[in-house]
Amino acid sequence: MLAIMNKQDLLAKSLKLLDKKLPPAGVPEPRPVLEEVLYAIVREGYTTEGANAAFARFKGTFFDWNEVRVSTVPEIADALKGVPDAGRKAQRISEILQYVFEMYYSFDLTDLDKKGLKQAAKQLARFTGMTDFAVAWVIQRSLGGHALPLDEPTLRVMRRLGVIETEDEDLESIRGTLEHAVAKSAGQAFTDRIATLAATVCREGKPRCTDCLLKSDCPTGQDQGRRPPEPKPKPKSR
Ligand code: SF4
Repeated sequence: MLAIMNKQDLLAKSLKLLDKKLPPAGVPEPRPVLEEVLYAIVREGYTTEGANAAFARFKGTFFDWNEVRVSTVPEIADALKGVPDAGRKAQRISEILQYVFEMYYSFDLTDLDKKGLKQAAKQLARFTGMTDFAVAWVIQRSLGGHALPLDEPTLRVMRRLGVIETEDEDLESIRGTLEHAVAKSAGQAFTDRIATLAATVCREGKPRCTDCLLKSDCPTGQDQGRRPPEPKPKPKSR
């Protein structure tokens, strides 16, 4: 079992390695709060590069957020073609825009954090269609707080690295551990780097540990290295 200090060291070392070897993540353009909410929905379970391209296409399809609000879910899903889980995400976007429109009579959420971050997080979590990932994303990217958005690919990498140790650990306690282990200043890099790792080598199914930068520190990677290579299939006799 990894102690909290070891988790901290492991994550710091992993991030350093990924930062050195992967292309620079680049500083994203700041987005208005509502736009960041909708971007987060698209980004969940996806890579930053994929989500950036998909979100730009999506925005370009509609005149404004009100046009998205009055569009049907299949129309929104069509504008999100290629995004994982596009149908469910379209439903969420439609619900969020409807909720914001009815609650604030505007799509401007600039004042969301005027009563503090905790209150802003509570308000965001109340939006119909919102996800835990999107709340944390907006706190991290728009509101200047320390929160780590955790989607399935991120959780998969954390399990394989041994940072999450049991299957039944709840999301709140995982978040607490990770937010303690990853400094606020490294939060965005953590989110982006781990998503890239998950999409390239630490994929769903069998990970490609031999090609992974973290293989010497990752228990799953070490375990894979100790296994004898899978036997090649015998040629069929004629
Ligand atoms: S070594 Fe393998 S399991 Fe570990 S992070 Fe890399 S790809 Fe994932």
